This record gives sequence, C-alpha cells and structure tokens, in this order.
Amino acid sequence: MKVLVGVKRVVDFNTRIQVKSDGSGVQTDGVKFSMNPFDEIAVEEAIRLKEAGLATEVIAVSIGGDKNQDTLRSALAMGADSALLVKTDDEIQPLMAAKILKNLVEQQQPKLVLLGKQAIDDDANQTPQMLAGLLGWPQATFASKLEIDGDTAAVTREVDAGLETLSVDLPAVVSSDLRLNEPRYIKLPDIMKAKRKPLEVIDLADLNIAASASIATLKTSAPPQRQAGIKVESSEALVAELKARNLV
Ligand code: AMP
Repeated sequence: MKVLVGVKRVVDFNTRIQVKSDGSGVQTDGVKFSMNPFDEIAVEEAIRLKEAGLATEVIAVSIGGDKNQDTLRSALAMGADSALLVKTDDEIQPLMAAKILKNLVEQQQPKLVLLGKQAIDDDANQTPQMLAGLLGWPQATFASKLEIDGDTAAVTREVDAGLETLSVDLPAVVSSDLRLNEPRYIKLPDIMKAKRKPLEVIDLADLNIAASASIATLKTSAPPQRQAGIKVESSEALVAELKARNLV
C-alpha cells in the first residue's frame, strides 16, 4: 500500500505572529518556518503504517517555494521514502492545493492519502475534504486513531458527543487530529540519511492545472489586546464577581 502524505511549510507554531503595518498580511521576513504540526502527525502515522508492514512506500508531497525542500527533507528524515515538491511562488489556496494533490494522486496511485486536519497558517480545514470530493473518494477527517484492515480503514474521530468510529473503503483521504500520535524526534543520522533520499521537483506550470484563486484577503489585523485578569481571595468572591458580570 502506497501512502501519500501532504506536508505544508508554515510559520512555526512557537512564533509570535506580527501583522504588517499596512495590513497586507503577516511578517514572514526573518521568521522561523516548520512543517505544519498536523502534517508531522500525518507523516508519523504513515511511517508507523510502514513499520507495521501495512504500507509499502511513503511519499511526502509539498506545494510551494524552493524552501519547502527543507520541510520535505524533515519528512524524509522522519522516515518517508521519497518526496515530491510542486514548485510555485504563488499563494496556494485550499481548492488549488486539492487540485494539485489530485493530479499527484493520479500519477502516484496511492491507496491512502494522509493530510493534516488543517494548516495552522490559514486554519482553512478544507484541502482534505476538497481532495476527497474531487477524487470521488471516501474521507475520514480529524482522525485520532487509524486501523487498516485489508481494503478498509477504521478511523476514530473526536466529535462533540465523544468518539465516533467510521469504516471507509480504500482508497481514501484521512486527515490527522492532534491525538493520532506523537511524532518522533529526528536524530542526526536520520538527517544525514535523508539527504540521499530522492526529492523530485516539478514546476506547477508543467501540471497544466488552471489557476483558481477564488478568495481574496482584504485585510489582516491583529486581535484586540486582552484585558488583564483579576485575582480573587475566595470562592465566594469568585461567585460574587461572576454574578456581578452576569456570567452565572
Ligand atoms: P488547509 O485546508 O489549508 O487547512 O490544509 C489542510 C491540509 O492540507 C494540510 O495540513 C496539509 O496536509 C494539506 N495541504 C494544504 N496546503 C498544502 C500545501 N501547500 N502543500 C502540501 N500540503 C498541503
């Protein structure tokens, strides 16, 4: 079973985001970028499937600029077998990402596509669903447990009422939630080994996919400053404060 994993390069989750003074976006100069945390979980899950003898090959794919090669090298260091970069300097919105991933799926014929449930830069949570729709494949989003049994996958998802387990026929698109696993720590020898693994770069223009940017960002602004909290001396004082603010 071949597994294709989406890997997006995003501003590191530990970075304090600064909005540009003209409101045209967030500062990216001199800012640390890393693999989208949910994609790290997806890569880890794919590698675990390979280690369990359920997957035969793990291909990490990314769409973006040349620097995405670093992100793909991290996926290779974690244990992916090969990597594919679809190179573009344009902004890639979820529908376009889904169209590009569909093209790669048609080329690579994986039985499972593992993506993150959302990218922490756009927080869109759309690409996996759109990809499944475009492919006409089953989808199981927000996976917190994945079990493969022959041509089906049992996917446990965290929903408001608790845990829900879906059975989907493969091929399918699955998106990872936070509790699916804890990604492994990359060791230095793995980084060295990753340098020798295949990483193919394809120009987006060569895939002949009609550009589709249907969303325009009008303005980016910082959230309002949070008010400082207050300290109360007793639970009675806490209840009195909450009552005074009509919160209980
Ligand atoms: P989004 O719909 O933007 O929140 O992204 C959801 C998931 O789709 C991400 O966690 C990735 O797995 C995948 N994805 C989105 N954009 C890209 C990209 N440019 N390159 C690779 N994977 C992507």
